[in-house]
Amino acid sequence: MNTECIFCKIAGKEIPTEIVFENEDVVAFNDLNPKAPVHVLFIPKKHIATLNDLSDDDLDMVGKIFSAIKDVAAEKGISGGGYRVVANCNKDAGQEVFHVHFHLLGGRALTWPPG
Ligand code: 5GP
Ligand code: ZN
Repeated sequence: MNTECIFCKIAGKEIPTEIVFENEDVVAFNDLNPKAPVHVLFIPKKHIATLNDLSDDDLDMVGKIFSAIKDVAAEKGISGGGYRVVANCNKDAGQEVFHVHFHLLGGRALTWPPG
């Protein structure tokens, strides 16, 4: 837990947020500023600042996040149409919140390449 971190506060229920998915290691919630009809953020409950800070101890959690993404995509009805998973790391990728998170984006045709 990082007391300055907004996503730690969401994971710790200090900031009321509608939770889309939760298990022992992972929380998912709708993005505040959605970029697509479905835009869900998946975070570890543990504070990890960037993808660069992942350790071997976190591999199980990363697998659980992708399992959760697959399940939420199915619940949201976007599995067949398709979706994108994005993780921004540091400045060049435009990372704004320094608590590792994976964006699930779908519900419309997404352009490629991203900007
Ligand atoms: P990044 O650019 O770091 O990959 O993405 C951060 C994302 O977190 C952005 O899409 C932004 O809209 C979202 N976000 C930032 N603060 C909050 C918040 O307090 N609540 C929710 N639900 N999303 C947030
Ligand atoms: Zn955090």
